[in-house]
Amino acid sequence: MIKIENLVKRYGQKYALDGISLEINHGDVVGFLGPNGAGKSTAMNIITGYLSASSGNVYINDISVLDDPILVKSMIGYLPEQPPLYIDMTVREYLNFVFDLKKCTYSRKKHIDEICSVVKITDVSNRVIRNLSKGYRQRVGIAQALIGNPPIIIMDEPTVGLDPKEIIEIRSLIRRLGERHTIILSSHILSEIQAICERIVIIDSGRIVADKPTDELARFVQANKKYNVKVAGPKSEVLALLMSLDGIKSALHTGEEDGGVYIYTVEAEAGVDVRKLIFSSLAENGWPMMGLEEQTVTLEDVFISIVDNNNYKKEKSKRASWDDDDNA
Ligand code: ADP
Ligand code: MG
Repeated sequence: MIKIENLVKRYGQKYALDGISLEINHGDVVGFLGPNGAGKSTAMNIITGYLSASSGNVYINDISVLDDPILVKSMIGYLPEQPPLYIDMTVREYLNFVFDLKKCTYSRKKHIDEICSVVKITDVSNRVIRNLSKGYRQRVGIAQALIGNPPIIIMDEPTVGLDPKEIIEIRSLIRRLGERHTIILSSHILSEIQAICERIVIIDSGRIVADKPTDELARFVQANKKYNVKVAGPKSEVLALLMSLDGIKSALHTGEEDGGVYIYTVEAEAGVDVRKLIFSSLAENGWPMMGLEEQTVTLEDVFISIVDNNNYKKEKSKRASWDDDDNA
């Protein structure tokens, strides 16, 4: 349904996109995951026809964005990083405005009412957008993307800046939309993409560095659990004990608290839950465990493990020096 062929976007010497190719099937819910500056927004702006590529092409149902931008735009609902809201309009005025802009042919009131109900903004539909919370504004942004019922919805960092309750609500809304639309969304947060998408495309420095089903990545996250353990006990003896336990791949002393409490970072072997063993072994030795918490796997961890480690670092430092040049 969506075919992206070797997209390159250059700004002067700098490559915002450095040859991205990708195919997305009808009904897929795909996440673009990458740190700030990776090229996610650039890719989305090109796919939606709002930015031209330096080279490469995008096809939606075999139609090139270049050949028929208007038709392609009609097949995509887009929520950009900064939603294009007219904040002095009421929600309804704004959605009517978008309806006209998109030259929508559905029955106006019925269509807008339906969308308001789907994104749960019926209650606020007569309020001025300026007075709405960030979460509600984001829903209005999603509503404008849904006008015309496009088969593809593209959302750029849809939960950025929202509070935790709003994040949960927007996530579940997106999951529901995923039942009826092909969706691409972007985020720099691994757990967020994991919670919504079936497939994860990791982008870094304008390139795709991994493209995997979410459950495969979840297995990786599962297989690389790390814990911070706080123990009141002699530093080196505790460390030696932790390193000797079955199921522990590595243990490091990583910090210290008042009262002779030391912090260790322990990496478990794939699929082993080492928490009980850590607890009971420390107890047997009379060294009280003062805390045990799981570390969240970060995007950086995923990069380093999934991507060829050396290549990644080499590329990264090369890019960093280009960035410096640009800033100079
Ligand atoms: P992301 O959305 O993943 O944070 P972007 O696509 O916004 O990343 O940006 C990718 C890279 O392109 C960044 O290094 C950014 O600074 C650069 N970039 C984006 N837009 C422009 C522009 N108009 N002029 C120059 N550089 C740009
Ligand atoms: Mg962005």
